[in-house]
Amino acid sequence: MTTKLRTPLSILIALTLALLPSCSRKEESWDIVISNVSVIDGISPTRVNQTVKIRDGLIIKVMPYIPDQEFNAHSLVDGNGQFLIPGLWDMHVHFLYDERLKEVMPSMFLDHGITAVRDTGGDLESLLDFRTDLVNSSEPSPDIFLSGPLLDGKFVIYDGNNPAQPELGTSTPPVDELGDFVKSMKEMGVDFIKLYELLDEERFYALSEKANQLDLPVASHVPLVLTAETAGPKANSMEHLRNIELSCASNWKELLQERRALIKGFDEGLGYDLRASIQALQRIPAIMDYDENRCDEVLSSLTSTIQVPTLRLNTVSITKPWEEEDWDSSFHKLPLTVKEEWSARINFLSNQSRAANEKFSEWSLFLISRLLKNNVPFAAGTDAPIGFGIPGYSLHNELKLLVESGATPQQAIKSATYTAASFFKLEDRVGQIQEGMKANLVLLREDPLVDIRNTREINRVMVDGKWARKS
Ligand SMILES: [Zn+2]
Repeated sequence: MTTKLRTPLSILIALTLALLPSCSRKEESWDIVISNVSVIDGISPTRVNQTVKIRDGLIIKVMPYIPDQEFNAHSLVDGNGQFLIPGLWDMHVHFLYDERLKEVMPSMFLDHGITAVRDTGGDLESLLDFRTDLVNSSEPSPDIFLSGPLLDGKFVIYDGNNPAQPELGTSTPPVDELGDFVKSMKEMGVDFIKLYELLDEERFYALSEKANQLDLPVASHVPLVLTAETAGPKANSMEHLRNIELSCASNWKELLQERRALIKGFDEGLGYDLRASIQALQRIPAIMDYDENRCDEVLSSLTSTIQVPTLRLNTVSITKPWEEEDWDSSFHKLPLTVKEEWSARINFLSNQSRAANEKFSEWSLFLISRLLKNNVPFAAGTDAPIGFGIPGYSLHNELKLLVESGATPQQAIKSATYTAASFFKLEDRVGQIQEGMKANLVLLREDPLVDIRNTREINRVMVDGKWARKS
């Protein structure tokens, strides 16, 4: 005892120094190490020959690869010749649109490298239960952010009364009750709110303001009584590029007046039909009256509002995704009754003249170049499963269409990672490949910057620092 206490300090120091080199040689342990991989995200230039170390659900190290280095890792993957990107987001999905698909959707998202989704409208309690079950399950699932129902006006577009459309929406209480209304939605567990097209002006502004005060992001369609440049800046995202065509028309004032009169005069019937009749009356005339100066003015008011174009939905009648060579490999995973129904509808569509849809499709694709020109941010979303949107698969079509419309492959990847996360102010925690960020990752066999279709060449998918899919 006493001799040990009397050990001279110099001996202790010598002992410590002698032990040090062997300590530093001893490699820390890791859950996963991917070595010698090309690292690509939406923000940084490509980093080649990198070793990426994962532990406790996080990216701990991204460092240059050193040949013949040994690692103490639970899973060691040779990334040579492969490409690591952040897990993808689909910013516009509806789990409750088709009950038959709800249960298969999470797994189909993961199969296609989608590790986070935003459910943009459906019954809140059902969605909360659905999410809780997934979180408690032993199976991996994507992160789900949800809004609860589409918040609509006196008439509700998705009120459940149209036999072909589920009840995704709800009317909203009077303005003086909206503060409590939004607060209770937040307390129940919504991550954002979704504002819809038949909201009146007062409710729209009040809902946006209350959500803002509670730090809840707002996703919105442009209410039909407003314009993109008045409603857009009050929302954090706008969906489908819809109603921008009305704002971009040289005769937008008359169109707005006409819409307002139609809505004011509507006192019975279905909200769904009211919107359809306004679209049928105004959409194509507005596109034909496109005024570029006016449109640039509108878009320059939207540089803080993320557009979710859902190009693949808007263009489904001209891009015909069912003619893509890899369509069948995902289509076959859908439940039989869904496959039968979709096949019949595809047949029907193929025999129809879709002139009006073609105009809107072309307009949507064109508008991407104007968003890029005016620095309007955009995020990838599909509206799956609406309009033949195969969950997961359809996001890769969206990325392809963004690139065909003028975005670079890296801008497309950014739209499905960094920009998507930024809607929730999470861009510094997920959506990039940087130390300290959440380890949601996709390992690709081919370079997505050479051809954006290579985002489909998925070798492995990681969720929360664990392999969720291995080929
Ligand atoms: Zn939607």
